[in-house]
Amino acid sequence: MKLQDKICIVTGAASGIGKEIALTYAREGGKVAIADINKAAAQATADDITKAGGTAMAVAMDVTNEEQVNAAIAEVVAAWGGVDVLVSNAGIQIVHPIEEFPFADWKKMLSIHLDGAFLTTKACLPHMQASGRGGSIIYMGSVHSKEASVLKSAYVTAKHGLIGLCKTVAKEGGKHAIRANVICPGFVRTPLVEKQIPEQAQALGISEDDVVKKVMLKETVDGEFTTVQDVAEVALLFAGFGSNALTGQSLVVSHGWFMQ
Ligand code: NAD
Repeated sequence: MKLQDKICIVTGAASGIGKEIALTYAREGGKVAIADINKAAAQATADDITKAGGTAMAVAMDVTNEEQVNAAIAEVVAAWGGVDVLVSNAGIQIVHPIEEFPFADWKKMLSIHLDGAFLTTKACLPHMQASGRGGSIIYMGSVHSKEASVLKSAYVTAKHGLIGLCKTVAKEGGKHAIRANVICPGFVRTPLVEKQIPEQAQALGISEDDVVKKVMLKETVDGEFTTVQDVAEVALLFAGFGSNALTGQSLVVSHGWFMQ
């Protein structure tokens, strides 16, 4: 058990990548808080974990709302006594050409991805410092933390920003053994991506099949989507890593789409 009794908070864990990370952490002995804006879906994930013999709780959290973030982290600390692992994963996608990108959508994207990462980090750090055990903070970046694609200006900007936050947390956290990392997945077939396929087909004037083959998976070595399990394995590696050796690093998980 790589995370025995570690107290883990995963945002956006009611669906997709975050849910798989939560299931993986629980299988490895972690106590997992499922933090999501969709409380009912978060509770369903927590119930799945509990039925399988793991330990989980659901907390309602809009990651853009400081009061909700602080209240949810306080709820987890009250229940279990601290925080050892934070996975800041909640995210959405909105695509437009820059000249048509509504400012409100731009601000929403930056708020969920960057304010969410900042607020959850800020709320968890004091508990990781106070415990004397250190901790692991993992940001869900993307290949778009390193690379750009058309129509995704806000997403690419936000995901690049997470690399800067991660490096700063790594520097400030080093003396407390608090590590920070970014995971950078390629396309993973979750609801977030399913929604983009028809949208991109319309915006680019191509078929949905071509969006998958010629846009999303074109640069991979095997024409395969990255899987939620691929990403969860990396999240387990970072959460369970026993030293500062990897802190500040980001790792691309993309079936060869983007190689550093
Ligand atoms: P998803 O839509 O399956 O899950 C996202 C979850 O975030 C949902 O449960 C949703 O309710 C929650 N959420 C949305 N807004 C929130 C908010 N304001 N506060 C709290 N929770 C909120 O998406 P996914 O594909 O699993 O994406 C998870 C993360 O992975 C995102 O940060 C995304 O950018 C990133 N990512 C996804 C892919 C991909 O191809 N799917 C690739 C690279 C990175």
